[in-house]
Amino acid sequence: MTAVEMGIPSVRSASLEGRPDVAHLVDRFARVARDLRVSITEKCSLRCTYCMPEAGLPAIPAERLLTAGEIVRLVEIAVHRLGVREVRFTGGEPLMRADLEHIIGGCAEKVPGIPLAMTTNAVGLEHRVRRLADAGLTRINVSLDTIDRDHFASLTRRDRLPSVLAGIRAAVAVGLAPVKVNAVLMPETLSGAPDLLQWCLDEGVALRFIEEMPLDADHEWARGSMVPAERLLSVLGARFDLDEIGRDDPSAPAVQWRVDGGAATVGIIASVTRSFCADCDRTRLTAEGTVRSCLFSDSEIDLRGALRSGADDEELAHLWRGAMWNKSAGHGIDAAGFVPPLRSMGAIGG
Ligand code: SAM
Ligand code: SF4
Repeated sequence: MTAVEMGIPSVRSASLEGRPDVAHLVDRFARVARDLRVSITEKCSLRCTYCMPEAGLPAIPAERLLTAGEIVRLVEIAVHRLGVREVRFTGGEPLMRADLEHIIGGCAEKVPGIPLAMTTNAVGLEHRVRRLADAGLTRINVSLDTIDRDHFASLTRRDRLPSVLAGIRAAVAVGLAPVKVNAVLMPETLSGAPDLLQWCLDEGVALRFIEEMPLDADHEWARGSMVPAERLLSVLGARFDLDEIGRDDPSAPAVQWRVDGGAATVGIIASVTRSFCADCDRTRLTAEGTVRSCLFSDSEIDLRGALRSGADDEELAHLWRGAMWNKSAGHGIDAAGFVPPLRSMGAIGG
């Protein structure tokens, strides 16, 4: 099912009324997007219950997927014409694309000096991480919610924990820095959170917990059953001494906590209970080539169609600026009548 079949408005232009004549990606609330998330596939090797349906997402027909060359061109436009300062590849699972090294290598050549990061589940990463680093990958975030093999298998519907742990160790070994682990807070893995933190401390990788958002394909999320950051703090606090440090910078979503008075920290992203929408600096490109300015807004601008109809770089940049100008103020999860977006997290690119 494509964006259009899902009923997502995929339009070619947006109103620019009131927009200042500036090159970068500014919105009506004076936020500037510098951080680009590029989803490169809807496919995945896991089926995390808070993200994917058990059968996986409907396949995007090959002709609707951005090619490596198209991704590199759009990244180049984002950096050189729109002021993007960091690019992160995501999905679905970016490792599912055989041409990932080619995509990263192409971007490294066209936008030298711009950090090229990837968010991955790390399944099979150990066999590719050297090539990815050589191609120009600079940073990596691995999603790992538990180090209990049974919990992992039931949460992801796949028994792949050993491969994930091996992938994290391989990323550290090739010198990718920082290697960060992201864990979604779920009721079934909450009691294992201290073990996960201890494992990350032992391995020398940074850990961040994130509240579950209503972006699961199965629409099971409920405000009453999600684990809020406050509950995690009390569970971690029973084993570790935690002191609040604050955010690394105002647009950083994670609040950092010092662990046991040492150098190590743990980050907590309270995306639902303490929204950071007011400081959001993200713009997103879906695997089908639409610009999506907010996770929670189904309004998208189609760049792929314009690109394939011969639009030049400035025309594409102009469309992108329009998408950003119309970005919504916030996710609205707590608003009466909130409706989750049509796309789930794996179909947007987290
Ligand atoms: N497959 C890769 C991975 O898992 O890292 C990249 C794509 S995944 C959609 C990106 C991030 O979104 C992951 O860190 C994942 O944990 C997070 N995520 C997925 N569904 C979520 C949800 N409902 N709420 C919060 N985070 C979610
Ligand atoms: Fe796949 Fe990542 Fe979604 Fe898990 S969170 S199902 S690994 S895309």
